Amino acid sequence: MRQWSTRELKYLEEHAGEGARAVAKALGRSTNSVEWQARQCGLSLRKRRQCPNCGRWTFKPLNRINGWCIECTKELHMSDLAEQASAMREEAIREKRNNQQRQRYYSAKSRAKKKKK
Ligand SMILES: [Zn+2]
Repeated sequence: MRQWSTRELKYLEEHAGEGARAVAKALGRSTNSVEWQARQCGLSLRKRRQCPNCGRWTFKPLNRINGWCIECTKELHMSDLAEQASAMREEAIREKRNNQQRQRYYSAKSRAKKKKK
């Protein structure tokens, strides 16, 4: 087996999160060799992905639609929910106000009718 150079070791350390296959391809080594060397260095080759929204690294897959991490996607949904909730609250207030107003007009109308008789 070919000796690992310091440049290669540095590359492995910095790119371990891209997975064994990607590192192997970049260095022109076998995946077995990369896996073995990672073990020697105590590095994890578990794939990590960077969220384009918060810039954090995650082991979990990114959202297929927006490409964001799970927590960013959750926050996005939460702000949607908050918006919907406040829109519904406003609608309910408007409905109540209009119903009260209508009731007042009906009463006024019926009082006027009674006076006429
Ligand atoms: Zn994120």
